[in-house]
Amino acid sequence: MSFSSDIKDELCRLHNEKPCCAFHELAGILRTGLIIREIGKKNHLLFITEHASVSRTVYSRVKEMVPDGVEISGEKTTRFKRHMVYRLDFTGITERDDGIRLLDSVGMNVNLPQQKVEYTKLDIKNKCCIRAYLRGGFLAVGSVSNPDKSYHIELSFINGLIADEFMSYMEFFELKPRIIQRKNYDIVYMKEGQDIVDFLNVINAHNALLEMENIRILKDMRNQVNRIVNCETANLEKTVNASLKQVSYIKYIDERIGIENLPEGLKEIARLRMENPEASLSELGKMLKPELGKSGVNHRMRKLQQIATDLMEKGK
Ligand SMILES: [Zn+2]
Repeated sequence: MSFSSDIKDELCRLHNEKPCCAFHELAGILRTGLIIREIGKKNHLLFITEHASVSRTVYSRVKEMVPDGVEISGEKTTRFKRHMVYRLDFTGITERDDGIRLLDSVGMNVNLPQQKVEYTKLDIKNKCCIRAYLRGGFLAVGSVSNPDKSYHIELSFINGLIADEFMSYMEFFELKPRIIQRKNYDIVYMKEGQDIVDFLNVINAHNALLEMENIRILKDMRNQVNRIVNCETANLEKTVNASLKQVSYIKYIDERIGIENLPEGLKEIARLRMENPEASLSELGKMLKPELGKSGVNHRMRKLQQIATDLMEKGK
């Protein structure tokens, strides 16, 4: 199951306690989700979704208000092989008084023969109802990418005015949505993990919010661990590169004069370095008896380097 499906299933299980919110949720669904398509030379008013829970919710909510106004059918799409697409046909509600009243109450005037829908602005006063309206819109035209992969939430609108309306209602909750055009759609989207968490909070998808927070924490930890590992790798590389240089000096000295002819302290560190090319300077220091600090070891290494370069000079 996708993260979007989880959220929508959760939202469909929510019970709108107040009738004002139930109404505005439905308004959000209908104003964003209803589209006109020509089927068999006749224009139909449709609501199409891949989510079974959403199709059931929309179907039963409209049927309560307009009995016999909606037909439901499922079809397999060729686009998503595994997916079932649910098609609710609302054409019936445009032919009945109670249906037209419902559309009118959500600010929609549908003219099927001319393939046109006019929207009047809904003036939503209560905060609870704005939440419900946004929730309805998300149920109909929203999606969220799997947060394991990326942070992206979007709502795609066929009508620019409705897109603007949603932008301003989202901004009312201090969200910072952005908008782009894609084909014939206005896409309202956000790309920050925090934006998605905030939006889920606004529409009362609290389980999804918690799941998202858990994934964010895990991701942060994973990034931190990766950073540490990368950092250690970089340090290790530095150590190894320095060590290879030291080993080459020491080999040169050994070939020219023999390590055993070096002063005691240098002889010892040269031998240890040859035997432990991967060790850091402080690790080498700890192998000495008595132990020697990092700077002490570094000092001896520089002496070895000096001897080697002197030998090279002489060898010219
Ligand atoms: Zn309300």
